[in-house]
Order: sequence, then C-alpha cells, then structure tokens
Amino acid sequence: MDRRSFLRTSAIGGAAAASTTLAAPAYAQGNRTLTMVTSVPDGFAIFDDAAQQVADYITNATDGALTINKMPAGSLVGAFEVFDAVSSGQADLYHSADYYFLNQHPAFAFFTSVPFGMTGQEMANWYYHRGGHEAHTELASLFNLRSFLCGNTAMQPGGWFNIEINSVEDLQGLRFRMPGQGGQVLGRLGASVQNIPGGEIYQALSSGQIDGAEWIGPYADERMGFQEVTPNYYTSGFHEPGSALTLGFNLDVWESLTAPQQTIVDAATRAVYSTNLSLSLAENGAALARLQAGGTQIREFPDDVWDAFGTAAAEVREENMSDPIYADIATSYFESLRESAAWFEIGDGEYMRQRNRVNG
Ligand code: CA
Repeated sequence: MDRRSFLRTSAIGGAAAASTTLAAPAYAQGNRTLTMVTSVPDGFAIFDDAAQQVADYITNATDGALTINKMPAGSLVGAFEVFDAVSSGQADLYHSADYYFLNQHPAFAFFTSVPFGMTGQEMANWYYHRGGHEAHTELASLFNLRSFLCGNTAMQPGGWFNIEINSVEDLQGLRFRMPGQGGQVLGRLGASVQNIPGGEIYQALSSGQIDGAEWIGPYADERMGFQEVTPNYYTSGFHEPGSALTLGFNLDVWESLTAPQQTIVDAATRAVYSTNLSLSLAENGAALARLQAGGTQIREFPDDVWDAFGTAAAEVREENMSDPIYADIATSYFESLRESAAWFEIGDGEYMRQRNRVNG
C-alpha cells in the first residue's frame, strides 16, 4: 500500500469511525437492560410462560430500547424475595403472584386470588373496569412499586392428596402446601400449612416432607410430575378460582420510562393476561384426560367439606377488615364480584345449561 492510498483509506475509515462515534452515545443512551426477577424456574408451564412472554413483548416492541433480562427464582434472589428486591431497587421489576406478599400487606391477596372469589374473567372485569387496577396502583405505590396484572392461571384445582378427604377431620394435621388466604383457611381447619416455592414442591412431595400440594392446574401440574408420587387429584378448589400474576416495577424505574415505553408495558401486560388465561383453559382439559388415563384418581370434596371451607374463608376475610386499606379494596372487589356473578348467572350460566341440553 502506498502512502496516498493509506491516507485515503484511513481518512475514509476515520470518517466512518467518527460518524459511528457520534451516533453511538445517543443510541446507547436510549437502550436499557432491566433486570426482571421471577418466582419460578425458567420453563415452568403457565407461570414462566407469562413471564417470558411479557419480557419478549416489551423487548421486541421497544426494539430493544427496553431489554428485559429475566432472572428466574434463585438466580439473583429467592422466589419469595422478589418483592423486597424490586421495592428496594436491587432489581428493576418482578413477575410473580402478589399473594406471596401478604406479610407486606394482606390486601395483596386480592391481586392474585382469594377463597370463593373471582374467576379469571370476573377478575378482568374488576381490574380493568371497576377500579381494581387503580387500587393495585395505589397499594403498590406504598411499597415504591408500580404493578400490573400480567397473566392468569384460570380456575385452580383443590390439589394433590396422598389420602382421600371424606370429612373435615381428614384435614387434621395434614401437611399441605398452599399459599395465600387459601392456606390460612386450611390452617384454620387443622391442616399444617406450608408455603413452598413452585420449584421445590415436587421434591417436598416425593420425599414425604408434605402430604399434599396444590399448584396451578392439570396442564402445569402434569408438567411438574405430581402424578408420579401422589394418587388423588381433587379437581375443584375453593382457594384460587382465577389466580392472577403480577408484573411489578420499581416505582423510580417506572417513572424513568418514556410515555411510549409505559404504554407498551401496559399493553403487554393486558395481552399476557388474556393469552395466559386462555392457554390454561385450552390445555387443561386434554391434560386432565391424560392424567386420568395414566391412573390418577379424580376426586371432589364432599359438600360438608366445602361448607367448612366457606365458613373458615369468611372468618379469614372478616379478620382482615380492621385494616382500612384492606377493607376499601375488599369492598370494591366484592361489589364487582356480585355484579359480575349476577350477570354470569343470567347470561353464560343459563346459556351453558341450554347448550349442553340441546347439544347433548
Ligand atoms: Ca396455586
């Protein structure tokens, strides 16, 4: 290479480098990686499906300006530590179920599910049209968080039991995994209730540390392998009639996002709520049929056990009402539930009855 062409080449190279250097800081400034901690291992059906979907949605829709780095339970913090990690700013956002955080505030129960409460559709009615989202925003702000429902597991079965439940007495001393207010209800009826993270339930069940457990539903439970170690599956449950999942941002991080980014996050959480609910509902029937074909005993609690669940649930609900924030949210929630339920009974309820009758 002669000197002239070297100079010419380096001049061109220099110009290219200069323009890259000029463009790079602006581009880099616009791109952020946010750490999202979750309460389950990667790949867990339904729960992690929602977490992965919202992470991909936000990353793709912002063209990488907000890149969500998902860190599953145990990789940065433990399954139940995600709330405090995000509240304190150790992580930027979490994907979890808010009823894991009743010690922070009992009203978080309403943003997952409460015994004898809302189905997934009724929850959406309240959240998006009857003040639920506003209540969630207000409650979360007390903990330096901004929260959105982001997923719904649909109706959850009563769970897996190594004995048959023929009366309330059968619950005495039963070591059972059930979080949230449902767990408080079982405890009131004499069970020894434990809250074990999703990633540890199979081990606890198969080692005999617990006598039974509930998780999500036929599709997700089958993937966990509970049918290998527990014979009885109670397919209707009082405790989680439509459990929502939550995406919770550190409030300072949320407020640092641009308005378009905030709009994308909001839209992403609504999309995931809907598709996650329908994923569960689309998969559960076939999964239950597979479980049954594989030898799982499908059972239902007797009516008097249901009645005992109802009495204990009302007591748990009532004892929290002395907290004014809890009482406000409970009032809004149950008003909306009564409204929704009345219409469902008239609309869907009667339609289902007639459709099943006419179609045979
Ligand atoms: Ca559950």
